[in-house]
Amino acid sequence: MALKILSNCINCSVCEPECPNLAISYDTTKKIYVINPDLCTECVGFYDEPTCDAVCPINCIEPDPDRIEEKPILFEKYRKIYNK
Ligand code: SF4
Ligand code: SF4
Repeated sequence: MALKILSNCINCSVCEPECPNLAISYDTTKKIYVINPDLCTECVGFYDEPTCDAVCPINCIEPDPDRIEEKPILFEKYRKIYNK
């Protein structure tokens, strides 16, 4: 599944450059960082674990229950993003 940033994000910007898929950006309306679920592969194709979750100092990144996707689907998403 894709991951989701919770509303208690403190906008520290640490996660944004760590995403290999450029899925994280600052949302000027919500005024927090957000994850584009179409680009989030849970880091499948790059790392064993979601790297944004690993670096977030307040643990405000969680699985998105609305975007439950198993590993094969995540890998397919990765392949589509990179035309592999
Ligand atoms: S889990 Fe990985 S791919 Fe998804 S937003 Fe976080 S760093 Fe990016
Ligand atoms: S690392 Fe966590 S607190 Fe910092 S911007 Fe990302 S989601 Fe927000």
